[in-house]
Amino acid sequence: MLEFARSGRSTLIAGGVGVAYFVLALAAISFTRLSDNVALLWLANAPLLAALCTRPTREHRQLLLVTALASGLATTVISPFSPLAPIFILTNIGEVVLGWYLLRYLGQARGVFLRLRSIPAFVLSAGFIAPAASGSVAGITLWLAHGTEPAFTWTNWMIGHGLGILIGTPVALLVLGGRAYREGLTRRLDITRLILVMTGTIAVVAATFAQSRLPLLFLPILPAIIATAMFRFAGAALSVFAITAIGAVFTMAGYGPVELVVGSQALHLQFFQFYLGIVFLIVLPFATLMAENRRLADAVAASEARYRMIADHASDAMLTLDPWGTIRFASPSVRELTGFEPLALIGRNALSLIAEEDREQVRTVHQAAIATPDSAHRVEYRGFTATGATRWFETTARAVAKEDGRVASIVSVVRDLSQYKAREADLERQATTDPMTGVLNRRAFERRLSENASREFGHIGTLAVLDLDHFKGVNDRLGHAAGDAALLSFADLMRANLRSEDAIARLGGEEFAILFPTLSAPAALATCERLRRALERTDIAAAEGNFRVTVSIGLAPMQPGIPVDELMRRADAALYRAKSAGRNHTVLADG
Ligand code: GH3
Ligand code: MG
Ligand code: MG
Repeated sequence: MLEFARSGRSTLIAGGVGVAYFVLALAAISFTRLSDNVALLWLANAPLLAALCTRPTREHRQLLLVTALASGLATTVISPFSPLAPIFILTNIGEVVLGWYLLRYLGQARGVFLRLRSIPAFVLSAGFIAPAASGSVAGITLWLAHGTEPAFTWTNWMIGHGLGILIGTPVALLVLGGRAYREGLTRRLDITRLILVMTGTIAVVAATFAQSRLPLLFLPILPAIIATAMFRFAGAALSVFAITAIGAVFTMAGYGPVELVVGSQALHLQFFQFYLGIVFLIVLPFATLMAENRRLADAVAASEARYRMIADHASDAMLTLDPWGTIRFASPSVRELTGFEPLALIGRNALSLIAEEDREQVRTVHQAAIATPDSAHRVEYRGFTATGATRWFETTARAVAKEDGRVASIVSVVRDLSQYKAREADLERQATTDPMTGVLNRRAFERRLSENASREFGHIGTLAVLDLDHFKGVNDRLGHAAGDAALLSFADLMRANLRSEDAIARLGGEEFAILFPTLSAPAALATCERLRRALERTDIAAAEGNFRVTVSIGLAPMQPGIPVDELMRRADAALYRAKSAGRNHTVLADG
């Protein structure tokens, strides 16, 4: 069914092109032939070229056949050269095929006149090379058959056919080329307006050519430009055609401003042809340029719409800043992220929303983004929410450069980092603490020790190593749970008795360590003694009743040039001596 409809349509189009060919050929032969030579304006080939450019290849044979018939018929009916009809058919159809082939070779057959670079390609192939070639054949044929001067025939043929194809093809494309060529005529109202404007154009052109007192040839260009600005390709094609048709009628009849040219009627007609060529070259490129701009604007609008869609529905907020940091656009999700109304942020400087301590860093990243447009820059910072609270955010910023390379704006995607930061802190805590007692683990403590040793006054502090006494016995007598309870209450006791700057760690089992970063050995010794005595008096709850444990402590003072492991060794030695002394003792390593 679809196949049938399509073939019906293609037959209709081929028939239409054939009829147009016949009528236009007849008109050209009847009205525009000069001194028994070839026609001065040959429009007949234009519908065929337009059809070849816009119809699928499988229809081309049918099109060529129909137009060949029409051509033969027209020549036979009216032309004085009718015995030469077969040669003229081949010459005409061959010219169109050659023009189309060259245009296709240049990659401009599809969408001809829709791109600016297709215009020179069209003028060159269909308006110049193809008629020059067919004109040679026609010149030689008429010379052999009638003895006509071949150069004269060639010139007339080439100009008549070239001009005919330039002026006729746009109008034929308007009919055959589909919506792309009629984009200036999308609404019903446009047709009414087009008719009005074309009526005006026709009036101006008629007024120009109906008199031969003033050289008013520039006048029709004005309505042609207006029609083009309003209706683009349709306006251009129709107004050039109107100028051609009306001008030709008057000029052939010996009227119009072209008569002001001093010379023969032949010269007048050539001058008119030249004029038409120039009008074509003014108006059609202008229409194409407008169509190109329009497509560009449409593409920008579509991309803008896509971007808005993303910005409106993303959970990350999007901000657009100018190079000075002023917010120019804020997407709706800024509301969920920060509590600020998007519109309330417009015009504010983005730095004012960033916590003091991170401002410099963010400013640096903003500058870096401007310095290298098109590459993304990431920064984490604390920013204010509408309630004045601070929260962690992450921004990925990218500068958008204008054509001249200068930065027009910076597009930023802002993400809430607070959950991520909380998880990060949690992981960090897990990696550095002893899960049972909550004090530092061995690894974190050793890192703290080396950090302290590399401080400027790192030799001031004191290290203590602590080991619960007879702990195996506690486990054995009261059970593992009681042992655990003892470990926990010792950790609590240490936390309660030490200052926040002192670092407490569980080195393993029932062995602990303390770094007193600012205490000299005697001061640390006093603190440890207090701790030891406090533990001695602490009741620890167990299933079988309360119990108590004691601790032995060894201390070693920090000294310049003493490495951390040597310090540990010294504290261990002191601890060993405390154990040997009967446990529940505090011993300071000697010098
Ligand atoms: P000393 O006075 O010489 O330090 O004797 P001690 O029994 O305390 O020393 P030892 O190193 O021989 O025994 C330590 C015991 O600590 C062995 C182990 O069962 C116990 N222990 C180690 N880690 C834990 C723990 O997490 N929970 C409990 N309940 N006991 C532990
Ligand atoms: Mg022990
Ligand atoms: Mg031990």
